[in-house]
Amino acid sequence: MDDEVAAHGREKRAAARENAVDLRERVVVVRERSIDKRERDIRAAETTQGTRDDQIGMLQQANAQLVIATIDAHKLAEQVQTAHADQDHLAHHDVLTDLPNRILLNDRLAHAIALAHRQGKRLAVMFLDLDRFKHINDSLGHAVGDKLLQSVAQRLVGGVRHSDTVSRQGGDEFVLLLPDIGHAEDVALSAQKMLIALAPSHLIDQHDLHIGVSIGISIYPDDGRDAETLIKHADIAMYQAKESGRNNYKFFEQEMNARAVQRQSIEAGLRLALERREFVLHYQPKINLLSGTIVSVEALIRWQHPQRGLLEPAQFVPIAEDSGLILPIGRWVLREACVQARAWQDAGLPPITVAVNTSALEFRAGDFLQCLRATLEESRLEPGYLELELTESVLMRDAASADSVLHALAALGIKLAIDDFGTGYSSLSYLRQFPINTLKIDQSFVNQITSNPDDATIVSAVISMAKALRLCVIAEGVETAEQVAFLMAQHCDEGQGYFFGRPVGAEVLAILLQTGVPPAFPH
Ligand code: C2E
Ligand code: MG
Ligand code: MG
Repeated sequence: MDDEVAAHGREKRAAARENAVDLRERVVVVRERSIDKRERDIRAAETTQGTRDDQIGMLQQANAQLVIATIDAHKLAEQVQTAHADQDHLAHHDVLTDLPNRILLNDRLAHAIALAHRQGKRLAVMFLDLDRFKHINDSLGHAVGDKLLQSVAQRLVGGVRHSDTVSRQGGDEFVLLLPDIGHAEDVALSAQKMLIALAPSHLIDQHDLHIGVSIGISIYPDDGRDAETLIKHADIAMYQAKESGRNNYKFFEQEMNARAVQRQSIEAGLRLALERREFVLHYQPKINLLSGTIVSVEALIRWQHPQRGLLEPAQFVPIAEDSGLILPIGRWVLREACVQARAWQDAGLPPITVAVNTSALEFRAGDFLQCLRATLEESRLEPGYLELELTESVLMRDAASADSVLHALAALGIKLAIDDFGTGYSSLSYLRQFPINTLKIDQSFVNQITSNPDDATIVSAVISMAKALRLCVIAEGVETAEQVAFLMAQHCDEGQGYFFGRPVGAEVLAILLQTGVPPAFPH
């Protein structure tokens, strides 16, 4: 979306520039023409043998025309000026929201810093990032996302003082400059005001959308003495606000820098991890609740980090997704899982399906299908033994193109599951239309089916719906015997969770497949 908006902005600016050049040329032409005409008229007057009155009349006419031409030229000159102003406005404002853009913000911030320095005052920079905006953009489309950004922009502007600047940095990020602050508490109050202003839902194209915001705050001169540092530190504080539960605000603290550095070092490490063979796959059994046997396994990536030990996906998959590294990593996971599934079969173990988690970026990659075909061929795994787990947001964003990829996958014979079902926005009509095999009920619902009646109702309803749509349904995160009993009573097909077994290495899983008994790990 950023690219589209940027391209749109570029086009508008180019058009304004052309307009200005065009107008300028027209002014010159009008002036030249009117001067030519006046000279011609004077010459004509001189050479004609007519009366003095005739000559005066002609001169008067010529003068009148010159006056009109001058007025026209003035008007055009004004238009040139307006075009210049438009061009200037476009260069300094965001096309979508019409808020000041990064350039203008930097300019104002630099001025505000100089002023605060002279007057010995403090100022605040707030970095705002919408929570789960990508989710809404992915599932409801860019048009809705754009309108939501406009609505958010309006509320932000409505919530600040006249002297404050609300700018859009791009995407779902906004930076606010509060040039005149007394105490840190005042800034905290302003941040609270922002959270309150954004709390009511936004009604957009019949969607009632709730969007939270995470805010990071840096203060001049305490947290930085130049615009770049202040924005960077407010950004770091914003990340902290997100990590500590979203929809809140955090002031920058020096220790936060260390975390940001750590994130960068994870990214740098990820770039090397593939060639250093530091990734491993663990496999977690999925159990058929009627037969009690392992019917498939989910491949879950782990990173054997040289310094930090075994890292869980939560510690590096989001960073891999942000940096695009998930593409080569995902290809490795797919290949490894297929080779392993085939190796278990070759070892004479009962054939099982292997499920691989697929990120949005991988699913949308142009060579996704080609890569899958090649991997299946190379590993000699029959496509029916491979399942892809996709989240609702992956599927619902641009559902039309998802539909064609899904049908191509289904035609190959690969199975498809919707992961974390219930946490995103699924359109039920797409559920019917997509060639999906399985719904995986998110563990957040399963967690409390025996303690929270609402969750129990949701889980029962999802199971009934899956049955009605002739889909297989599996509950994730099953941890207790009571949960198993509930799920069996509701005729849920499969279960996965610590109750049946934690994710384990390939050798341990081979033993489980051999003995055929789901392990009873302590829980
Ligand atoms: P997911 O696909 O929903 O996987 C289920 C997660 O729940 C796994 O966490 C699993 O270890 C955990 N889990 C299983 N049973 C229980 C239980 O009974 N209780 C609790 N509390 N948790 C349970 P893990 O391995 O940390 O993976 C987290 C997420 O990371 C996965 O969620 C998946 O979205 C992502 N992920 C894992 N491996 C890959 C991968 O190879 N590629 C991609 N793109 N994402 C991956
Ligand atoms: Mg999964
Ligand atoms: Mg899941």
